[in-house]
Amino acid sequence: MAIESTPVHEDDVQPSPLVFGPAARARANELLTRFLDDYERSLPERSLLPALDRDVLAELLTEPVPEEGIGVDAFFAELYERVLPNSTAVAHPRFLAYVQGPPNSVGPYADAIAATLNQNCNFWQLSPAASVIERSVVRWLSGLFELGAAAGGILTSGGSVATLNALTVALVARRPDFRRRGLQDRHRPPLVVYTSQEAHRCVDKAAAILGLGLDNVRHISTDEQFRMRVDLLEEAVRADRAAGREPCCVVATAGTVTSGSVDPIAEIADVAGKHELWLHVDGAYGALFVLAEQTRELFAGCSRADSIALDPHKMLFAPYEVGCLVVRDAESLRAAYSFSAAYLTVEPDPLMIDFMDYGPQLSRGFKAFKVWAALRTFGAGAFRDAARRCLELAAHLGRRVAAEPGLELLNPVTLTAVCLRIDGRTDAEHTAILRELITEGTALLGPARLGERTGIRACVTNHRTTKADIDLVVDRLAAYARS
Ligand SMILES: *Cc1c(COP(=O)(O)O)cnc(C)c1O
Repeated sequence: MAIESTPVHEDDVQPSPLVFGPAARARANELLTRFLDDYERSLPERSLLPALDRDVLAELLTEPVPEEGIGVDAFFAELYERVLPNSTAVAHPRFLAYVQGPPNSVGPYADAIAATLNQNCNFWQLSPAASVIERSVVRWLSGLFELGAAAGGILTSGGSVATLNALTVALVARRPDFRRRGLQDRHRPPLVVYTSQEAHRCVDKAAAILGLGLDNVRHISTDEQFRMRVDLLEEAVRADRAAGREPCCVVATAGTVTSGSVDPIAEIADVAGKHELWLHVDGAYGALFVLAEQTRELFAGCSRADSIALDPHKMLFAPYEVGCLVVRDAESLRAAYSFSAAYLTVEPDPLMIDFMDYGPQLSRGFKAFKVWAALRTFGAGAFRDAARRCLELAAHLGRRVAAEPGLELLNPVTLTAVCLRIDGRTDAEHTAILRELITEGTALLGPARLGERTGIRACVTNHRTTKADIDLVVDRLAAYARS
């Protein structure tokens, strides 16, 4: 017997309050496109840092959530009136502080599409194409470093989490019963991690979070080019072993955050091999300069790493967030992160990966899409060009600073970070000059502390920067030196 069906008129069905009707959808489409265009057009005139409206910010903080929604038009009005004016214009061509690139142009579209598809990249059934695309992105990234056929990896929220995950994997590799026993057993020797004085704080942070303890992180001194001293690394490993501690892992940096120095990774790999240390490379800033011909050789030693942290939201100019951890042996990730749960089991498929077994997250967004979209849309060659251009601009900046009588270059320019000091100016004056450069619209530069010295740091990780921008900055700094 056929089940009697009630003919439903569209109006009879209560629509979800969270779905736009046709008119609201059309309006949202129009306003979104207008916003993307307006923002792009406004970039040349935007100030480097917004003149903050503290009243608006306080309002944003404290105003109650409306019971009745304000609708699409008012929502976009809020974007223009309250959010945009209090947002930092990181795409400004003379935004040269930190390691901060503007997004590539397909990024915002890719993020919108990924949100629409809303794939949950935990196990493949919920995200088949996404699983394969993430795999292919990771494969392309790991392929840049010739890690071998067993290599694998996972996209993360950034380089810090990639390094946190790498140290987790290193712990499990060192102590196969780590998952069960943790680090609570006082009868076992403390594990020690080695990195350099110029390493990023994410190494300390990971050691602290994992319970290794900051007292068990050795910050090895650097040479005159701010690279880890391998002789001192070996000395420290021997000293710890002699004192009954257990050397576990060394974190080399491929592109230190202040000076862009690349540690001698091959020599560190020799020490790691001799003393059975896990070799992790923090390449969050620098490793993607492997794309550029002129710096490729610096990263040759990465092929001997056990794991590498990379940041597509830096030199691939993906919108935040996307980092990546690649490992020599994909099984090492599974050893650390795979927990079977009956409610999540689907048939394995050779094409696809259950990324929940490769990292700490269960529900995961489709971060791979924006990376893949950019590689497809622009091609790898465009990213090689962007890396090369940034390197050339930084080299030009370094040469000009070195040639300018009143300016002192503080670091050899290996990648794109240039640190300098203005002769005859105190530290406080340097800080004041950084502020003035922003106010007058010249540039956003950062402070630098390199060894014992302080100064100003410019980092060219901005694909919108031109030679004229660099010259304008140097001319202004030179004027400060003369005045
Ligand atoms: C940026 C950076 C990090 C941190 O990466 P996030 O993506 O910000 O978490 C770590 N190490 C180095 C060398 C970096 O430049």
